[in-house]
Amino acid sequence: MPDEYIKYLQSLNDKQREAACSDISTPLLIVAGPGSGKTSTMVGRVLFLLNEGISPSNILAMTFTTAAASEMRDRVGLIAGKTAAKELTISTFHSFSLQLCRSHAEKIERTSEFLIYGHGQQRRAIIEAVRLLENEKSRQNQVACKPGEDSNSMRSPEYFKDKSKKWQKFVTQAKASAKTPAELRKLGDEIEAAILEHYNNILRACNALDYHDLISCSVKLLTTFPEVLKECQDSWRAIIIDEFQDTSAMQYNLLRILASHNCVTIVGDDDQSIFSFNGADISGFDSFRDDFQNYKEIRLTRNYRSTRCIVEAASSLIQHNMKRCQLKNVLTENSNGSKIMIKECHNEDAQCAFVIDKILENASDGLDTECSYGSIAILYRRQVSGKVFQTAFRERKIPFNIHGVAFYRKKVVRAIIGMLRTTLPGCDDGPYRRVFKALLPFEKEEKKRVIDHIDKISTIRKCSFISAAHDIFTAKISGTFKRSQLTQGRKVLLTLEMISKLVHREQSISAVITSVANMVPQKYLLEQRAVVDFDGGKLLNEDNDLRSVLRYLLDDVSDFLSTQFVAIKEEKNVDENEKGCSSMLKAFIDYVLEREKENFHIRRHDNKNSVTLTTIHQSKGLEWDIVFIVKANETEIPLLHEFNGTVKENATSIEEERRLLYVAMTRARKKLFMLYVMVDSNWQLLQPSRFLKEIPHHLREVQAELSVKDPQTKHQKILDETAQFPVDLPREVHPSETDLAADELVNVQINDLATELTDPVEALDGNSFLRRFSVEER
Ligand code: ATP
Ligand code: MG
Repeated sequence: MPDEYIKYLQSLNDKQREAACSDISTPLLIVAGPGSGKTSTMVGRVLFLLNEGISPSNILAMTFTTAAASEMRDRVGLIAGKTAAKELTISTFHSFSLQLCRSHAEKIERTSEFLIYGHGQQRRAIIEAVRLLENEKSRQNQVACKPGEDSNSMRSPEYFKDKSKKWQKFVTQAKASAKTPAELRKLGDEIEAAILEHYNNILRACNALDYHDLISCSVKLLTTFPEVLKECQDSWRAIIIDEFQDTSAMQYNLLRILASHNCVTIVGDDDQSIFSFNGADISGFDSFRDDFQNYKEIRLTRNYRSTRCIVEAASSLIQHNMKRCQLKNVLTENSNGSKIMIKECHNEDAQCAFVIDKILENASDGLDTECSYGSIAILYRRQVSGKVFQTAFRERKIPFNIHGVAFYRKKVVRAIIGMLRTTLPGCDDGPYRRVFKALLPFEKEEKKRVIDHIDKISTIRKCSFISAAHDIFTAKISGTFKRSQLTQGRKVLLTLEMISKLVHREQSISAVITSVANMVPQKYLLEQRAVVDFDGGKLLNEDNDLRSVLRYLLDDVSDFLSTQFVAIKEEKNVDENEKGCSSMLKAFIDYVLEREKENFHIRRHDNKNSVTLTTIHQSKGLEWDIVFIVKANETEIPLLHEFNGTVKENATSIEEERRLLYVAMTRARKKLFMLYVMVDSNWQLLQPSRFLKEIPHHLREVQAELSVKDPQTKHQKILDETAQFPVDLPREVHPSETDLAADELVNVQINDLATELTDPVEALDGNSFLRRFSVEER
């Protein structure tokens, strides 16, 4: 065994080493608490497998986020060398399934260019499905009705939209539990079956799959095509899964089929399961025990990450959960460390001021002068709570990076990606619509009118957005347009054609992206300044222009080329220099979609010396010396939904919220601060989180602002004092910004892929239009 491998394996403790070096044909289950070296053991396992003669290209490691995948590749690379690390397949479930479905698209009745439908497109397909069902119903009723009485065409679009909300929920649930129309019919659910059937047909007609389909179609490929199963089983001789507690039943199914050779290692902690809203299901642990009967289970009990105080406080908290399937004893031999500081603050500004004081105090403490900022994180339940810190850090010139910043959600970035997507075969309406929004140099209202008109024409003529736009701007159909509007519209059409040519001529994606980015008008960038400002973080710190966006995009291109494209190129025999860069671009856009879906964009290079701002959901698996959990208030964590004025809570959701706080607390190595505020931006009194009381007295140090006990007097006093507090209250938060972090992962990530298809059945090939678009017509 190479010296480096031996050295690494020796640095593990006995249990960890036993796990890493277990016999390769024994299914392995590692269940352990936070900071006990699960991920470190996984790295050891990879080294052991390599040493056993398994080629890196035959190892499949699944992690939950692309950031975790990069982290893993880096760690293996440090020991086993960059070449081996590059050859490993380290993937998320979705990107793995996406590749599999693309390679065998014809078997699932798609072409390899199939589209991925996010939330918005799914909604449109469902509206269409409802419309089709209503049509059928009205045809059946026609005999009984007077002519035109129950005509579906009389119904307003709102009618279908209203209905679609309910049906979208149903379709999502049906897909998550892998229900088929035939099964629904058997249960007597005729209408449900019909909707699902129409929906599936529409997606097939549009050459599209939604996120659930990606996993279920992969399962279908493996179960109905023995040659695909064989190909996968030959390719993946060893499978390793980190953060197993977050896999859904369907994802587990995929794993079970893939891993029939038994060389499978799963690693997880049920107490850290925080994605149940996304279908995560901890019963996967039991399924694994049932399905892989000769499995070996290893428990790691020693926490290497945190001080004893932090470990004990977090353990006390999680013990309040009743539903825990595998009780774990987490101990540490680390020093006691300081008590957890629970700090009461007047409002969010006061909270921010306190955090900044502490950061500066610790940074100048020389705690770790080289990367003192880099070892600090601020964690919050909802993305919006990070905003006040971004503004203050900018003012105080404290470098920061935002985990989970939705870089690919920025309208500017989406416009650039949209411009690139229009060059891919099978591009639907969304990217075209986005490009028109970005490139038409009109005021907002005028732009909206023009785009609405194109939409209207495309609905009436049942054609795609781009062919409607083409006919309008080349005056093939009459309309009430100003001459300037027609000229500008034609310019956009020309730009699209230029981009298409560029992609076919240019050899490098970087060059194409640079040219395309430069086509985005300054006016549009200024319009979007607010968006960039909201979650741009570092973007604004440097310069608020296209250069920063472009630099980040090009960074991702090189990341993509060095990690992903090597594998894709070999697999598909793609030649970078053949026919410009369109095949590379297609692979890059898939990579971007994956990142966009995760709503996760981590600037690895920026993290070294900057404070991390992140939601708790995105902090999993990571660690920092000093952690501030901010806004630990009731209604924040636990975050409870309000229905018709009353807050609904149930034991299950409270337990998930408690696990979330558990994950947050266990990110800290040395110091943990938990802060709550007394008054919100509407001067309403807020309560500290109920979970704070679950931390034993002897482990916490509470710094309260007021010692008044009587609630009435306290409220008045807080308001008086807050009024005197020298800093402004945070501005009122727009409702859309107060979305749950969790919901953001479901809705925003999926919504953001939305390309707002006008008529899903009529998705036309945009490129053929561009080819048709002759010089004379211009
Ligand atoms: P989480 O549940 O949060 O994902 P984990 O169980 O995956 O945690 P790791 O991230 O692998 O834990 O390890 C936590 C920390 O402990 C890391 O800093 C790692 O380097 C350190 N560590 C792990 N094992 C050992 C060991 N045997 N000796 C010293 N340090 C260790
Ligand atoms: Mg881990």
